Amino acid sequence: MKKYDYEIVIGLEVHVELKTNTKIFCGCPNSFGAEPNTNVCPICAGFPGMLPVLNKRAVEFAIRAGLALNCEIASYCKFDRKNYFYPDLPKAYQISQYDLPICANGYLDIYVDGQSKRIGIVRAHLEEDAGKLVHQGSITETAFSLVDLNRSGVPLLEIVSQPDMRSAAEARQYLEKLRSTMLFAGVSDCKMQEGSLRCDANVSVRPWGEKELGVRTEIKNLNSFRALEKAIEYEARRHMDLLDDDEVIERETRTWDEEKQVTRSMRSKEEAHDYRYFPEPDLPPLVIDPEWVKSIAQSMPELPDQAQRRLMDEYGLPPYDVAIITSTPQYLAYFDQCVAEYPQPKTVANWMMGELNKYLNQGNMDIAECLIKPGQLAGLLQMVDDGSISGKMAKDIFAEMFASGKDAPTIVKEKGLAQISDQDTLMRIIEEVLQSNPKVVADYRGGKQKAAGFLVGQVMKATKGQANPALVNQLIDKCLSAE
Ligand code: ADP
Ligand code: MG
Ligand code: ZN
Repeated sequence: MKKYDYEIVIGLEVHVELKTNTKIFCGCPNSFGAEPNTNVCPICAGFPGMLPVLNKRAVEFAIRAGLALNCEIASYCKFDRKNYFYPDLPKAYQISQYDLPICANGYLDIYVDGQSKRIGIVRAHLEEDAGKLVHQGSITETAFSLVDLNRSGVPLLEIVSQPDMRSAAEARQYLEKLRSTMLFAGVSDCKMQEGSLRCDANVSVRPWGEKELGVRTEIKNLNSFRALEKAIEYEARRHMDLLDDDEVIERETRTWDEEKQVTRSMRSKEEAHDYRYFPEPDLPPLVIDPEWVKSIAQSMPELPDQAQRRLMDEYGLPPYDVAIITSTPQYLAYFDQCVAEYPQPKTVANWMMGELNKYLNQGNMDIAECLIKPGQLAGLLQMVDDGSISGKMAKDIFAEMFASGKDAPTIVKEKGLAQISDQDTLMRIIEEVLQSNPKVVADYRGGKQKAAGFLVGQVMKATKGQANPALVNQLIDKCLSAE
């Protein structure tokens, strides 16, 4: 039985892999997709007695990320051991940061229903990644699993949000904004499929108006934006149903079952004390020179927020368009280059969000792989403007361009597609059409305005769609009202 209206509360814990050349505490390459256990040394394999050495670049990337997330950067922080046993963690502890993280008190702004909303960031801390278990078949039925330590020791930044999100859609927006912010800051490639961006969702519900937060569960194994939304929706519903039935919600860690589209209990929630955190004795505390932070701040590239403001203020684009165009630095660069040659931002945005996205998605492609260069899209749009082709023809030509990488004028010439805007040519065709349709002409003159539409259609048919429709309309109008 439904007792209350509920409010959903969500906080996200996001891990991003920092794209340094080498791992965080040893010199092994930090690269994805190598043969198992080839990027491994005694340090990242957890041999006894090996000493970690902190990678300065990882610290620099954490600072860049922290600045991009509007965080305060600590001048003094330290590393701690998080102890737990799992086969992918050879030392049986993870070097992480506990009470003194490198970044704290930040925020990201998202747009929900056209309104800006600020999501707080509690902290962002540096830690090392664990290895990976490769199960032979599914985890529940496998006879054995293999351990790949290539990922062991890859630098991670764990970014913990405040429980500020109120719907699955907001959580998605936040994760998208976080992703684009990390991409623009240049610290991670944020590929969810490859695990360089991973997200756990903490979900609770409470009766509307209630101040206290409800009991939360944490959902792991969310490896797409869609999975994030679906899992939150499912989990919130589950909480509401339990509360309506006067049942209690267990504080636990759950996993998202993509196939069945349900969350499932994994284990009861571990508490900080279960990990027996203590300061890492093999690394000295980390003192960060504020001058270094300042110089990193000065070298920061344009970030999504700045780019978004620029597109809204200078071009008057709506927040929805702007969020999509600033989703990656490559996408924004494409837009900027196209607008530089064809200064009609809204038209460019529409084409990018429409046709371009459609074909990129169909081919599961990145914009970097797109054969149509920004200047070529500008060239196509120019041809629509000067009347050489119609908007509809432009879409067909775009498809050709996407497949072949040819310029619009080349395709138009090869296929004989040019739009007919020559008045004499059109007048000759129009006269023929009028002569062979005396009844329709009479209807029109008798006041049936709609008859003109039929005549325009006949002209378009006679020219295989190549006549300039606006011009045909005009000319027919002129002919019929002249006599
Ligand atoms: P833990 O150490 O157990 O992971 P944290 O305090 O670090 O706990 O919080 C983890 C995440 O859970 C944060 O993103 C926080 O915003 C979120 N969170 C905390 N309480 C709740 C709650 N009641 N409902 C939803 N999210 C919550
Ligand atoms: Mg946590
Ligand atoms: Zn190593």
